[in-house]
Amino acid sequence: MSESKRIVVVTGGSKGIGKAICLKFASEGARVLFVHYDPDEQAANDTLSLLNNMGVEAQAHKLDVSSFEAVEAFFTRVAKEYQRVDVLVNNAGITQDGFLMRMSANQWNQVLAVNLSGVFNCTKAVIRPMIKERSGRIINISSVVGQIGNIGQANYAASKAGILGFTKSVARELAGRGITVNAVAPGFVNTEMTEKLPDKVKEAFLAQIPMGRIGEPEEVAETVYWLASSGATYITGQVIQVNGGLYM
Ligand code: NAP
Repeated sequence: MSESKRIVVVTGGSKGIGKAICLKFASEGARVLFVHYDPDEQAANDTLSLLNNMGVEAQAHKLDVSSFEAVEAFFTRVAKEYQRVDVLVNNAGITQDGFLMRMSANQWNQVLAVNLSGVFNCTKAVIRPMIKERSGRIINISSVVGQIGNIGQANYAASKAGILGFTKSVARELAGRGITVNAVAPGFVNTEMTEKLPDKVKEAFLAQIPMGRIGEPEEVAETVYWLASSGATYITGQVIQVNGGLYM
């Protein structure tokens, strides 16, 4: 095992954007550890097979990013095994849509717990080894919805806007330690998350996209990969938009 191979942790790596991010890092030969949460592990197993077929060292772990204790235990194990983490991509996210009038406290709390507390939990757990190394890249996946809001997604928009404030604060805290922290805000991307939207909502989104098409997970993965590359050494606290012009 080459010590020079980067250790990359991706949350929500089993499908969609997270899967594309795992495959992109695997293409450089990085060691890819991803976490997912669905008890049906089919998607995670399929992604793991793809990574193994690329000849990289990869691991899949079932982990709920909203559990502070479970996340801490996971990163403690990773630090023991690898001594460092080079890149953390906080990608795991869920939706529980509904108009505010009808949104339950449970819908609110679940989305905030996974999308925002999950980012806090993983980032807090990973910075100790990164500070020790005086190096690291943290990339948080926000959303255009966190920037402009969306009907029926008050909980999701709040979680994604929260990620932006979190990213900028932590970027300031860690800039002197050799760690960059940035956010990527995708627009409307072709994954299971958007597949389940009603056709009317999809059409309304499409009509607002100057490029006239939905984005692909790989297009988001390219930006995440670049933020973790030697091309982005002087970039921190930024929000990079990958949205086909949906919001400028
Ligand atoms: P997706 O296809 O639904 O995938 C979500 C991933 O998150 C899955 O791997 C899922 O694993 C994992 N996950 C969910 N809950 C988790 C938990 N509690 N702990 C750990 N992992 C968990 O979604 P996607 O569209 O690729 O979205 C990825 C990220 O991009 C999300 O943060 C999303 O908000 C953001 N985003 C997406 C779009 C879009 O248009 N698709 C636009 C803007 C932003 P399991 O299935 O195993 O639970």
